[in-house]
Amino acid sequence: MSVRNSISEKKPRLTLVGAGPGDHELITIKGAKALQNATVILYDALIDPKIFEYASPRVIKRFVGKRCGLHTYSQEEINEMIVSYALTYGHVVRLKGGDPFVFGRGYEELAYAGSFGIETEIIPGVTSATSLPALKKIPLTTRGLNESFWVLTGTTADRKVSNDIFLAAQTNATVVILMGLKKLGEITEIYKEANKENLPVAIIVNGSLPNEQFITGTIKDIGLKVNESDIHGPALILIGEAVSLQLDKTATFIKNIENQLA
Ligand code: SAH
Repeated sequence: MSVRNSISEKKPRLTLVGAGPGDHELITIKGAKALQNATVILYDALIDPKIFEYASPRVIKRFVGKRCGLHTYSQEEINEMIVSYALTYGHVVRLKGGDPFVFGRGYEELAYAGSFGIETEIIPGVTSATSLPALKKIPLTTRGLNESFWVLTGTTADRKVSNDIFLAAQTNATVVILMGLKKLGEITEIYKEANKENLPVAIIVNGSLPNEQFITGTIKDIGLKVNESDIHGPALILIGEAVSLQLDKTATFIKNIENQLA
């Protein structure tokens, strides 16, 4: 290796890479190239290890994940690790599930590294919020049925149910809730108060992975169905008429919409 190369490899830099929702083939080509060039990879809990096929065998891999409040490292510690690894080894890839800027604290990591004069780049990822419904053939928007989809967190920074859910429940939007399974009871209560007991709901657990689970129901019965299932892993809650399109009713529904629009 030439001196020039080793110097450029040592140059501290951070690339924040979105790994996609789980299936390792759902990383972007640009993200995979960044893994190939990384000296260090700091990765999260929701990353499928198969993704390291794209990295150099010599890469230093460090797990810095947190799951359900069980913090392996605090956010401050992760920020500091990014900086110290970049200053020591050069190119750090911070690999995060889905898209790093969707409930990912990616912005904080970029800003912290930037404040040390470290060069930063972001490679967006395929977010679970839009890709998991698509993989289940549930359209987030459908002409004539809804005009928006909302992506919300079920649990706010102070561990409460988000106020935005009260607003979302008033609309015809397809609602996608991340980090919401523990709040499912409160969420369904909010929808019941809005007289939406029969609105379809789906829960996708470990979406895009071999151990995926998929549960469907309505606001009225989804809580019971979830209690009866043995759920382990990250879960996405989908609420709205859009969910019913996943079922075999699709063809009839599209016909109805076409008739209405004609
Ligand atoms: N940045 C990520 C989201 C991070 S928050 C993204 O863009 O996808 C983590 C939450 O995302 C989980 O609690 C869960 O609600 C959702 N999630 C991420 N991956 C998932 C998967 N494979 N299956 C189901 N839910 C998932």
